[in-house]
Amino acid sequence: MKIFSVSVINMAYWNKEIECMPQEEIKKRQLDMLQKLIAHLYKDNKFYHDKMAAKGVVPEDIKTLEDITKLPFMYKQDLRDNYPTKMFTEPIDKIVRFHVSSGTTGKPTLVGYTRNDLEFWSEALARSLTSCGVGEKDVMQVSYGYGLFTGGLGAHYGAEKVGATVLPTGTGNTERQIELMQDLGVTAIACTPSYFIHMIDVAKQKGVDIRKDTVLRRAFLGAEPWTEGMRKHIEEASGVKAYDIYGMSEMAGPMYTECEERCGIHIPWDIMYCEVVDPETDEPVAPGQKGELVVTMLKKEAFPLVRYKVKDVTCIMPEPCKCGRTSPRIARITGRTDDMLIIRGINVFPSQIEHTLLQIPEVESHYMIIVDRINALDVLTLQVEIKPEAFSDKVNEMTDLKKRIENEMKKYLNVAVKVELKESGSLPRFEGKSKRVIDRRTYE
Ligand code: ADP
Ligand code: ZN
Repeated sequence: MKIFSVSVINMAYWNKEIECMPQEEIKKRQLDMLQKLIAHLYKDNKFYHDKMAAKGVVPEDIKTLEDITKLPFMYKQDLRDNYPTKMFTEPIDKIVRFHVSSGTTGKPTLVGYTRNDLEFWSEALARSLTSCGVGEKDVMQVSYGYGLFTGGLGAHYGAEKVGATVLPTGTGNTERQIELMQDLGVTAIACTPSYFIHMIDVAKQKGVDIRKDTVLRRAFLGAEPWTEGMRKHIEEASGVKAYDIYGMSEMAGPMYTECEERCGIHIPWDIMYCEVVDPETDEPVAPGQKGELVVTMLKKEAFPLVRYKVKDVTCIMPEPCKCGRTSPRIARITGRTDDMLIIRGINVFPSQIEHTLLQIPEVESHYMIIVDRINALDVLTLQVEIKPEAFSDKVNEMTDLKKRIENEMKKYLNVAVKVELKESGSLPRFEGKSKRVIDRRTYE
């Protein structure tokens, strides 16, 4: 009995001292880390030196944490301009790994890691997985792509660090993945939400009910935006508890998750410093207000980041978490500033469409958003799969359903949406990051 209660306490935190440190101490330590980082980059790296000099800032200007706003921003373009290794701050013989981003928004970018960088990446994941109850007893299937993409190897080393048994399936060959999941008693999985939905479908076609025929209990889903509505669909269809996992290759890779409370993503204060700014004015927004995330990596050696505008839209959550961790939390990412569609002058994020759509009980979680420009007007078409039991031969029933979805969309998005109902299984499926938006507009 005693042993059991001790192991439960150990399970709760990976590094309790750091994870539950009082705010005052966190601020003191973050300032110390920031000052050392900036002094080092100004002295040792031409890119950072020139950027700071152009803004007239010197390391001595950083006297408080708030002084971080005096520093210049960094952009994805800086990475491209300095490709491949001009932004590296360690010599190549100290670099033990490269990764290349998946290129969602253009030319892929290269990142590098020292041995210590790989260590804190796994440490971040170990804290995250522990906060969700994953440990030695678990078998973790990693169905993110392995290779240049950070997802597979990132989740892999994090799960190994907490002592879980890792099943490195990568993506693809879904039927085989389901067999292995059953044979090896997989309890947790990491993949994109769209791939997990695909897996649920393939399992169903094989006559496997994930809830009854496997012992899968937790899914760490990320690498692309998804909504609370999608979480509900996934949980109802599979019986697993789904957690949001976030990261990007410039930070290291996937590293941060929600805890068991599932109310925002914990960001370890000793690894990453977060700001949220208005994407247009670059002014900081108040806690709880949405804006663009700006990150500073406080202890990265090979490839640091200072005030990097990541384009992801979120907010810093002001209220403390019930789990007792004192690290800051950011809200679920609702999209990227460059994901936003402007439809007849109105801003629409794909996540708003997903959120509205998944409130409608007849629809499946597969959809495509197509934008055209017809006679100088934007036309948004939403193709939606309908559950087999909701499909009807009666034309008027189908027309009513289509109208109902169109009305809901209009009500919530303030934009007219043309809905096309599709048969279950007819829209594309995705193994890695999904591509659900096709923007065919041209502006000649
Ligand atoms: P690329 O920009 O080439 O796709 P990455 O593979 O590193 O590079 O992807 C990072 C991006 O993926 C993030 O900036 C974010 O837009 C998206 N992303 C990752 N995890 C999540 C998540 N849990 N929710 C929403 N978006 C996510
Ligand atoms: Zn928490």
